[in-house]
Order: sequence, then structure tokens, then C-alpha cells
Amino acid sequence: MHNVINYLEESSIKFKDKIAVIEEDKKITYDELNNYSKSGGTYFAKEKVFKEPIIIFMNKGIDALIGFFSSLYAGCHYSLIDPDLPKSRIEKIIETTNSKYVITNSNYKDLANDYFSGLNVLDIEDLKKNDIDNSLLEEVKNKAIDYDPVYVNFTSGSTGVPKGVVISHRSIIDFISNFTKIFNITSDDILANQAPFDFDVSVKDIYSSISVGATLVIVPKAYFSSPAKLLDYLCEHNVTTMIWAVSALCLITTFHGLDYKVPDKVNKVIFSGEVMPLKHLKIWQEHLPNTMFVNVYGPTEITCNCTYHIIDNKREYVDKIPVGKPFPNERVVLLDEENNEISEQNKVGEICVVGSAIGLGYYNNSEQTSKAFKQNPNETRYLETIYYTGDLGYYNEDNELMFNGRKDFQIKYLGHRIELEEIEKSIMEIEEVRRTCTIFDEEKSKLYAFYIGDISKADLQSKLREKLPVYMLPTKLIQLEEFPLTKNGKIDRKKLFELK
Ligand code: AMP
Repeated sequence: MHNVINYLEESSIKFKDKIAVIEEDKKITYDELNNYSKSGGTYFAKEKVFKEPIIIFMNKGIDALIGFFSSLYAGCHYSLIDPDLPKSRIEKIIETTNSKYVITNSNYKDLANDYFSGLNVLDIEDLKKNDIDNSLLEEVKNKAIDYDPVYVNFTSGSTGVPKGVVISHRSIIDFISNFTKIFNITSDDILANQAPFDFDVSVKDIYSSISVGATLVIVPKAYFSSPAKLLDYLCEHNVTTMIWAVSALCLITTFHGLDYKVPDKVNKVIFSGEVMPLKHLKIWQEHLPNTMFVNVYGPTEITCNCTYHIIDNKREYVDKIPVGKPFPNERVVLLDEENNEISEQNKVGEICVVGSAIGLGYYNNSEQTSKAFKQNPNETRYLETIYYTGDLGYYNEDNELMFNGRKDFQIKYLGHRIELEEIEKSIMEIEEVRRTCTIFDEEKSKLYAFYIGDISKADLQSKLREKLPVYMLPTKLIQLEEFPLTKNGKIDRKKLFELK
């Protein structure tokens, strides 16, 4: 198998009338999802659009999935843009992808026409009405190879421009086939999707579900500000599987959601994205004592995750949970500053990954690509790409991999991956600002931006809103006359922590 579309095709035969996806009061069967996607695919195939980026401009949902699979039926790749992003950020993404086609739905049609004048803006309802040309779609599929991209996921970039991580059919098939096998995800499962579709946690929901013929229940974003409603929704749909970001699971426990209601059909909770606080994990385990909990680790660039650790109910975890061992067909190594492989325990090195699940780099960005995706310095006999994650790790006494923070200024804030430099670049773009530095207080989960310049905090805040997504806006702006400096003349970040 070399095309993820086969997942949908096969499930639409085996599970024809089964509900594939539920989104509040909307439902779609496998057969309908497949046929609508084929209709959309036929449109692009007739236009001879092949291997092109298609922008999906809408929130997560059934329409977005039809947009994704329409793109793939045409041998193209998709990139979902969240319509709530500021216009200037959307423009940067469009500039990077150079897309000619945008698929939207009635909710965002007017906005799409405003933002994407000059591009082909297509309404999903019109795409769904196209007559299917099966022989044309077959022709396209025969031309596609497993190295072709499936999606481009944009993530924060230290240069000030978001980086588009490119992931291929081969990588998804490699990862998802192991992921579903190891965690026993089957057609009996009902998966509750938490993550937005421009966040790669959702890739596990979508492709696990479609590949085994399970049912995917999309949890609307708004439910995350109302834990009772969220838990009612999970229980109402008899959810069995939660593949969620740590921040979302902690949101439920922070608001004592499980004291209100326990989604007791849940038998698998697979979490990632951040270090899971033991206190929160314990609460989940107490309420779901027979459920399997798994810590999975990895950046978007290596297709979701490269290591996992199944929580042992009898083990007393002190301090933190391991990120564990590699998924099959992934080689995860620790390298020191000189690229020597570390095998001894308790010695910290950079986590690096080799394998089919490694992405194809950053879209239209060879400079950033070559910084992280390199020829493996320890394999000089043939081509072997190694991805440098920027994460630090070490092996514990049981030779399990432990996560040990970052090498750089990348952080996780409200579940989002952010390069602090991107915030700083955006602040520096504001004419009145002369200098800036951003720090993150992990304990309090607060983001502080210091600046020197003739602009009030309120004005700076409103200018930043036009540039940055809400989750990247500093919690507090602090105006300074001058920055505290270290002996070497660098900004003294430690002192800034005292000034916040
Ligand atoms: P993203 O690309 O948004 O999935 O973010 C990836 C980054 O999140 C990784 O490089 C890590 O820094 C962090 N991360 C992901 N999973 C875990 C985990 N299980 N434990 C600790 N940090 C994690």
C-alpha cells in the first residue's frame, strides 16, 4: 500500500453504511465520505491539478475531511488554515505555499473571497456535486507515489515566518500502521478528536480511524471552555479512545470535570505534546482504573510521535514519566555536541530520529530544512536523513528515554508549539520598538515580552493582535528603559525573570 486514500477506499467497502464521522448533530457514512471526496477529487483531476497544495480554509469538521480527501484523490496535498488566524499570518502561509486553490464552506466563504482574491476559492458544497470519474481518479492514483506529500502543517518559526512541515503518504502509513497495532485501535473504537486539524495530534485521530473503520467524533473547540458540556458529549457518544494533548486532559482535571462525570467507556488515553504532570495523570487513573494510559513523544516533523511509554499502574513514578522506547521502524538516538551517539545512562544529548516516518522538510524553505534534516553524520556510506529534534533527553536506569527540555527557545504554551523568536520578530516589526526579548515562565505558564520603544503597552498589544495568533500574544508587556546585560553583552534573561 502506498497511498493513504486506500484507507478510505477499503473502509468504504468494508464499512459502507457505518458512521465514519460525527460532528455535533451532523453524521457521515464511510460511503458518503468516500463519494464526496471522489467528487472533489474529480474536479481537480479534470483541471489537471496534480501534486499541488490545496488550502482548506475552515475549522475542523466533516467538510474539512472531505476537502482533505478530495485533494488526495487528485494526487495533491492539503494544508488547513484556521480562519481565526490574523490576516497577515495567513498571507505569510499563502506566500510560502503559493497555492492556487482554496476550499472553504459557507461559514467562511465571504472571508475567503476577501483574503484570497486572485485565487480559486471553491465552496465544498459545489465540489461535492461533481460527477465522479472513476477511471480518471484511477489514472491519477497510478501516477502518485508514496513519497508524495499528504499535508503541510504550519508551525511557529524562529525566523518570524511559520514553517510548513511536509509529511508524505509513506510516513503516515509507516506510523499509523504501527500506532493502531500497538494500541489495538480497531473498528469497534469510537475516537474523540480534540486537536484542531492544523495540529498533528489530529493526524492520529483521522488516519487511525479511517484505516481501521472506526468512528471519529469531532469535539468542537468551544466545548473546551465548558468541561461539563465536554464530558456530556464524550459520554453521550460512548467514546472509547482519546488521543489528546496533555494540556486538554489537564483542562478537564483542573476544573474537576471527572467529579462531574466519567467517560467510563474510554479504554485508551494516549497523550502527548508536553510533560504530563503526575498529579493530573493520577486523577485520570483514579477515575478510569482499567484504562490504558500512554505517553507518546515526538515533533510534527517525524509524523506525530517516535517513542511511547505505556503507563504501568503498579509502578510508582517519581518525578516524571519516561517517553519510553521507539515505535517499530524508527531509530531514535541521543547525540552529543560532537554527534557521538550516547548509550550510557543519565547522560544528556539531543534526541535525533531516523526512519520512514521522517518528514520531507519545510515547504519551500530549504534553508530551515537543511538546519534540522541532515545527512546522518554517523552514516557516510549512503544517503540517510537524520532529524535533529532540538529536544534533550537521557536514558534512565531502565534504559528508557526521558525527556529533558529544549536546546533552544521553543516552548509549549496553552498546548501550542511556539518559537519565542517568532514573537520577538513580530514585535520588532513594529516601527516604534527598538529592542525586545520574550521569556516564558513555565511554572506559571505565562509569557512576558519586554521592550524598549516609544509605544504604549496598549498600542503595542493591539498591533500585535494583527500579527500573531491569540495563543502567541504575551500575557504581559513590560516597557523598559534599558535591558539588563550579561558580562558578554547579551540580554540577561535571568534578570528579566526578576523584573516580570
Ligand atoms: P509538536 O510539533 O507541536 O507536536 O511539538 C513537539 C514538541 O513538543 C517536541 O519537540 C517536544 O519538545 C514536545 N513534546 C511532545 N511530546 C512530548 C512528551 N510526551 N513529553 C514532553 N514533551 C513533549
